[in-house]
Amino acid sequence: MRDKGTMRLLVCGGAGFIGSNFIHFLIEHQPEVAIVCYDELTYAGNLASLGTCLQHPHFEFVRGDINNAELLRHILQRCSIDHVINFAAETHVDRSIFQPLSFVDTNVHGTATILETLREVWTDPQAHRLVQVSTDEVFGSLGPHGSFDENSAYRPNSPYSASKAAADHLVDAYHTTYGLNTVVTHCTNNYGPYQYPEKLIPYMILAALEDRPLPIYGDGQNVRDWIHVKDHCSGVWAALTRGSTGRHYAFGSGCERTNLELVTLLCWLLDQKLGRSAEQATSRLMTFIQDRPGHDRRYALNPSRARTELGWEPVVDFEPGLTTTVRWYLEHREWWQPILERKAKLHFYHQ
Ligand code: NAD
Repeated sequence: MRDKGTMRLLVCGGAGFIGSNFIHFLIEHQPEVAIVCYDELTYAGNLASLGTCLQHPHFEFVRGDINNAELLRHILQRCSIDHVINFAAETHVDRSIFQPLSFVDTNVHGTATILETLREVWTDPQAHRLVQVSTDEVFGSLGPHGSFDENSAYRPNSPYSASKAAADHLVDAYHTTYGLNTVVTHCTNNYGPYQYPEKLIPYMILAALEDRPLPIYGDGQNVRDWIHVKDHCSGVWAALTRGSTGRHYAFGSGCERTNLELVTLLCWLLDQKLGRSAEQATSRLMTFIQDRPGHDRRYALNPSRARTELGWEPVVDFEPGLTTTVRWYLEHREWWQPILERKAKLHFYHQ
């Protein structure tokens, strides 16, 4: 980092989908903030997602594991870090079904390592804050009506959501027991640029471009509340700068769609962009497959607290946001092509 800036932030997991969007967001909207991106660059991390941020005078990249307490301590001290935002995690539900222990290792033990290191280094905890980026999935599955909020009981169903839930409990325990200044955020399903192509939206776009099947789990009636990643980023910033210590904040956009509706819309958008005729319509590629075990039926979050206490509002409408996202993937082959070429086995896609 050439220039130390006015606030020094450590962004763990900043080379992933949401973390990299958050760093772009900061450089655009909060250019005085100095950023250290700390990321292990697992299969999901990608320096290319940081683009021109890598050259920014307030930016530094450190490759590191959140389980590496020694390196974390060194960076916190060397860079005089004021606040930490933890996006780092194993995030793909399908992978968590096949390799749950890596989720426990990163999401539970990694978060515990961050907490323990902060407890040691931050001797005046009130001068610093940790924002733990959690998910709506910790609350489990909803029926056809209603929504979860910050007071809902935790009922995680997948190894992914269970590991995120465990991390949240540790964060809350460090707040209560040691007075660490923490905030936990929960957000619904994100979409936007730089999302690893095993996740639903980029998976479908890239499969459609290559005329591969578009697999839809079960009856396609699982519902997700979709939010543009920029709106999540503004929420995380609001939680860091305006949230109350020890508090949880939920971000949702009220854009609920079944997976079938979402994929149908994606097919239509692709047909428009690619000029496909009725005979060549992308929807011909849709294929129903066996449901995944423990597939949550519906997620939705009530963002009233974030609205009233943080003054947060989502600003990106769903259809324009999705249209721009489709265009982004069509125009950024240089970003996703190397990922496909690495031939990492792309597990199925539903978040
Ligand atoms: P992602 O998988 O795209 O990125 C995760 C990043 O963490 C990658 O850059 C990876 O290299 C890094 N990482 C993984 N293990 C690490 C380790 N041990 N040490 C350091 N870095 C490590 O994930 P994402 O979609 O950007 O999600 C970010 C956070 O937001 C996660 O905590 C996730 O639970 C949460 N979240 C995601 C969504 C969503 O829709 N994607 C919704 C709500 C909450």
